[in-house]
Amino acid sequence: MITIKSAREIETMAAAGRMVAETLALVARHVRPGVSTEALDRVAEDFIRSHPGARPSFKGLYDFPATLCTSINQEVVHGIPSPRRILQEGDLLSVDVGVWLEGLHADSAATFPVGKVSEQVVRLLKVTQEALAAGVAQARSGNHVGDIGHAVQGVAEGAGYSVVRELVGHGIGSAFHEDPQVPNYGKPKRGPRLVPGMTLAIEPMVNVGGPDIRTLEDRWTVVTQDGSLSAHFEHTVAVVENGGPPRVLTAVA
Ligand code: MG
Ligand code: MG
Repeated sequence: MITIKSAREIETMAAAGRMVAETLALVARHVRPGVSTEALDRVAEDFIRSHPGARPSFKGLYDFPATLCTSINQEVVHGIPSPRRILQEGDLLSVDVGVWLEGLHADSAATFPVGKVSEQVVRLLKVTQEALAAGVAQARSGNHVGDIGHAVQGVAEGAGYSVVRELVGHGIGSAFHEDPQVPNYGKPKRGPRLVPGMTLAIEPMVNVGGPDIRTLEDRWTVVTQDGSLSAHFEHTVAVVENGGPPRVLTAVA
């Protein structure tokens, strides 16, 4: 069931979303060679819990053990922070985080270069961000979910990359994962129609190689089947009246 949020609920989600954006900015300032992903997780959790009424969305969600998902290089999503995972010069690190505030969630992700990275990594990050922006731009009342996926896919595949198909974006609200599913591929004018008050997490996962993925023995970490690099960017947005561009809830104000 797709839930429509009231103006008041959207303001609460925007407050949660600002906290998510601030968490990502804080983590970004700590990303450097020699830092463990667990150290980043601690910084993020302490920051979120310092706000009354807020808690990390992921910790305990489906029994996930941490505040952040930290996914390095060929890892696509759902990497578990660990004291043994030390960032190396040239890595790329995808960080995914959600915040629950007064009953509602917000969700965002960004991929960061670690120290100096290759031209290939720079381009992958740029294209994935552009794919997200193209998808967000389609989240307008009167459009359909398929318009979002079509736009994301066009940018990613147009650059010679592929989009992950088995994992998708989602509605978000009082539950972290709500309907509708928001695939990163699709056809224009297909899928559920977008109406004002819908809140969606749009999240392209873009692979340098093929689209296929598999899950490691830890039952969480998703990697590319072919070992190619992968990037992930995500925003939570609210569909507004009159077909205008959506309100991005996970941006720093
Ligand atoms: Mg996320
Ligand atoms: Mg999400």
